[in-house]
Amino acid sequence: MTSLRRFFLLLLCLSLFLTSAGAAGSITIIRPTPTPVRTQEPRPTATPEPTPEAQVLAGDSDLSSSAPAVRSVIELVPTPEPTPDDRPFIIRFGSRDEPKISLTMDDCYNLDAVRDALELCKQYNIVMTFYPLGIMLHEEDRQLWQDIIDAGCEIGTHTMWHSRVARNPETRVAMQQILKPQEVMDQVLGYHYPLRTLRPPYGSIEDANDNISRGVRLLMNAGYKHVVNWDVSQTNPQLALPRVQNGSILLYHARETDVKCISVLIPQLIEKGFTFVTVAELIGLGSEVTTSSDLYVFDPKKY
Ligand SMILES: [Zn+2]
Repeated sequence: MTSLRRFFLLLLCLSLFLTSAGAAGSITIIRPTPTPVRTQEPRPTATPEPTPEAQVLAGDSDLSSSAPAVRSVIELVPTPEPTPDDRPFIIRFGSRDEPKISLTMDDCYNLDAVRDALELCKQYNIVMTFYPLGIMLHEEDRQLWQDIIDAGCEIGTHTMWHSRVARNPETRVAMQQILKPQEVMDQVLGYHYPLRTLRPPYGSIEDANDNISRGVRLLMNAGYKHVVNWDVSQTNPQLALPRVQNGSILLYHARETDVKCISVLIPQLIEKGFTFVTVAELIGLGSEVTTSSDLYVFDPKKY
């Protein structure tokens, strides 16, 4: 064999070796099997999150154990669309597929700021969701709350007072914190207006051990299938704007700085093509609110 032939033979052996090594390498790459997806809910994005509690659902044993059964029932239903209940208990945003967003305002300690926010809604023909504390609902402000409803905005609840819902060891007191605002709201308005969505104080439903099971039980007992947190909370419009995406829920408070921020932000978001909807609508509860003449009364003996 000439040295040239030996050289080509060596080259051939070398290329065969590299090919098999490459194939082996590719097998190694594709070996990991995909992790099963728990729900059809869009997964959290890389956007910096304002609260650490957003990911807690996976750590809750009660929900984790019940989730597969719930999902298998849903899979038997012919319609492929996810139902509102086929979602995490803690919602931070709506569908990422539609340019709908929700603007929210918590606490409502400063009613002048609430009025200013309502004026912005009227000026730009948009709606938003207010989450007043129950202690901020008074009969003398009836007209303000009615104006908010008449403008197509939503009034949700931020609970009666500003403490973490699952931290109170007394179930009766915890339930009072969650449900009393509905009684007060009805008294203020003079008719039953359902507070359909709930924003927990501090965005938190954990107990002292950082477990959400008790909080979920308390809130579901009160009729809330979800609680609503947020995925945008910057009060500087330049920082907030790039973070807003389809389905975003924006958190603000009834303060002058926040009103200033949303007064800049709203026209820019409209310009970007976003539509403003109430949280109830964003999370699939619909825009229709059914009111009635039966005023709700909290009954502590039930708990
Ligand atoms: Zn608050």
